[in-house]
Order: sequence, then C-alpha cells, then structure tokens
Amino acid sequence: MRFKSLSELKRPELREISLASLPQNVTMARYAREKAFKINELVRTVYDDSLEWYGFTLGSKGNPELITDIGLPRNDLNLQTYTTLSSEKIAEFKESLPDDVIINGWIHSHGALMYKQFSHTDEKNHLVVLDFVAASLRRPVAKREVVIKDLIFLVKDQFVEEDLTAGSVCLITDAPVTVATIMETIYGSFCYAIVIGDEGWHEQQIHYKENGVLSGHTAVSAKAADILLVDSGRVLTRLDISELRDEVEGKIQPNTNPPVETMERM
Ligand SMILES: [Zn+2]
Repeated sequence: MRFKSLSELKRPELREISLASLPQNVTMARYAREKAFKINELVRTVYDDSLEWYGFTLGSKGNPELITDIGLPRNDLNLQTYTTLSSEKIAEFKESLPDDVIINGWIHSHGALMYKQFSHTDEKNHLVVLDFVAASLRRPVAKREVVIKDLIFLVKDQFVEEDLTAGSVCLITDAPVTVATIMETIYGSFCYAIVIGDEGWHEQQIHYKENGVLSGHTAVSAKAADILLVDSGRVLTRLDISELRDEVEGKIQPNTNPPVETMERM
C-alpha cells in the first residue's frame, strides 16, 4: 500500500480574511467607573446596608466599544427573577434610552461579599445580555471559506430538474465551472461584563458571539479582560450625585425578607 504524502493527508486550511476585530479590552470612561462605585456608596448610605444591584453599561451607536455611562434599571431584589436577567427586562430598560445610546454590557455589584469573581448565576446572565445586545453590536468580522461536500455544478438552462436532486448544494452558473471557493461572512458581536465590590475591586470579562450567514455556524466564547480607563470629559457633579441618589432610592428595593433562592444569589 502506498501512503499519501503528509500534505495530501492534511486537511487543507480554510481560507479566511479578517474584516474587523472585536474589542480585547474593556474601555471605560472614568466617569462611568466613578458612577458605578458611587451607586455602591449611595446604596450603603440610603439603605444602611450593602446590597447587590445590577445595571447596564452604555455606549453610543457611533462608538459602541466605549462604556460612557452606567444605566440603572429598576432592580427587583425581592424576586427570584433578579438572579435571572431576562431579555424582557433588558428590552424594557432599552426603551427608556435615547435613540443613539446602546447597551454594550452589564455591571453588577457583589457588595461586601468576599466573592471577587463571577458566579455560576452570572454566567447565565452573560449569555442573556450577549443575546440581547448582539444584534445592535454585530459587525462583519471575517470572510471564511465554507467547505461544501458534494457541491454540484450546473449550467444555467442546460440541466433538467432531476439534476437538482444530486449533491448537497447546487451552484448554477452562466458558464461551465469546475472549481469554486465559497466564502461566507462571519458576523461577530460582544458584550462586556463587570463585577465590582464595595472595597473598590472590579473584574471584567468580554463575551463574544459569532455566526456565519451561510453555514449557520455559531460560537460563543469569553475572556477575562483588562479595563482601560479614558477621560470622556464628563465628570460626576454634585447634581449628578443628587440625581443618582434619587435613582438609587427609586430603583433599588431592599428586601427585608428574602426567599432562600435569592439568598444564594451572587
Ligand atoms: Zn455576581
């Protein structure tokens, strides 16, 4: 028996060209970071207790990768749904935002807990947020070759209906063709996830999703990411803080008698 050379045995590498990249770091305006920790502080001041809360990181349509602000939705602390961030909740909050503002992730606090990392519950929430924001953040990131087994070539006006039953895909061209490379657009999207604590610590992840338009290929992935702070020119004023205090009073609802399942949340 004759062995094929190694190059023949090796699966040919699929052609791919990169069109754009997704963020590798979490870029955040200092204002937004300051606001997040201010919410933590206000929660402690208003409720005399360290409560967990969640919010959304916001950007603009023109610069979706930069977190410019933190949006605080009404938190349902006394409901089990608090642990499971639902797309309905996100949609409801998105409705309240100006047209050019987009949600690019979510942020939550572990308060005074010494659990300085994302929990299993958080993992589920990442995917809910990613699913929701993916549509507004998606962009073509690559063109990737699609291998079609049993690709059948047919020439326009020169085949009968029965010819279409063969193969997995039929490529009908106006001139005879024997070789074709098919490349599909891969769309990519991302969402940020940030968890903070009363002591000033924070952890970040970026979650990614990609899908191929033709193959239907989808993949999700995540990585821990550094935070890059930038000056956006905006500062947290006394008026901002006073308004934020009102928001904290209106939207964060302390639960004095939590059911067991919310006690377990992180
Ligand atoms: Zn958590």
